Amino acid sequence: MHASEPCTLVAEGIYQVRIPLPFALNIVNCYLLRDGDGWTVLDTGLNTPPARDAWKAALTHLHIQPGDIRRIILTHVHPDHYGMAGWFGSLVADAPPPVYTSVREAELAGILWNPQRLQEDIGFERFLVSAGMTPEMAQTVGRGIQSTGIQTLPHPATIHTLAAGDTVDIGGRHFLILHAPGHSDGQLMFYDAQDNLMLSGDHVLMKITPNIGLWPDTEPDPLGRFMRSLRELHAYKVRLALPGHKALITDWQGRIEELLAHHEQRLDHTLAAVKNGATVYETSLQVFQSDHFSPHEWRFAIVETLAHLDYLQRAGKVTREEGEPVIRFQAV
Ligand SMILES: [Zn+2]
Repeated sequence: MHASEPCTLVAEGIYQVRIPLPFALNIVNCYLLRDGDGWTVLDTGLNTPPARDAWKAALTHLHIQPGDIRRIILTHVHPDHYGMAGWFGSLVADAPPPVYTSVREAELAGILWNPQRLQEDIGFERFLVSAGMTPEMAQTVGRGIQSTGIQTLPHPATIHTLAAGDTVDIGGRHFLILHAPGHSDGQLMFYDAQDNLMLSGDHVLMKITPNIGLWPDTEPDPLGRFMRSLRELHAYKVRLALPGHKALITDWQGRIEELLAHHEQRLDHTLAAVKNGATVYETSLQVFQSDHFSPHEWRFAIVETLAHLDYLQRAGKVTREEGEPVIRFQAV
């Protein structure tokens, strides 16, 4: 791919658009799918000036008018995927394209990006203190969510839902809708069995492992659900997967095996870290190379560590002690 090109043809009728993000993970891969005489957008980016420039360049390059966009499909509603759905709508204010995701993701969008909650809620800071952070650190780490929340504005007025097991036709392709939980409760993937092509969201990524976190709003057992889902998806024939970040995936089975091995190893490290009892924060310090973590990265480290401790607790390998205000875990 040429760095200056605003988009790249990655499969027949599908262009990848790399949208810049203001994080260490600095790109989200979004896609434009030819859809009859219009286009479908898959995932959108975080609403910042460089991201708007990147989308405008891609649309211009492909001679797409905003009114040509028939619909927007979101694999999940994390800010880097959801954040510009409303911006697309604002380009055609009289007829904004409908936005689709799963029922659970639509529900999470209402919870996570509720403007009032972003302003007033200190629940997440309390959650970080219970994980063992000092109140000062919890405040710094917790507040970052508010600035990210602003970059998801404007919000789409309505979100329509898609159900796993149904199919969605885009252009000449028939995609089976799959539920891919773990990274986000209701994440969806889209499988074109005829072309062995998967639109894989953040479920399977090259180079980095998708963040599997137990956030205050996450359904129980995210890591268990993620690993079970990966084992099921291992059976799918996939010649090419188009992911939400990093490189295209051509060795589907191999990458799934690596991800499963990574979490098995991380579970071992986590268990060793709580041998003598530890908070989530103390465990994170042992499990991650955290010296240069930004507040954003600390959020992910805490919820990821908690997801592993939760998994170990369900397996009977650690116990959880509900202290006030700090929770501790101990290897059995
Ligand atoms: Zn993402």
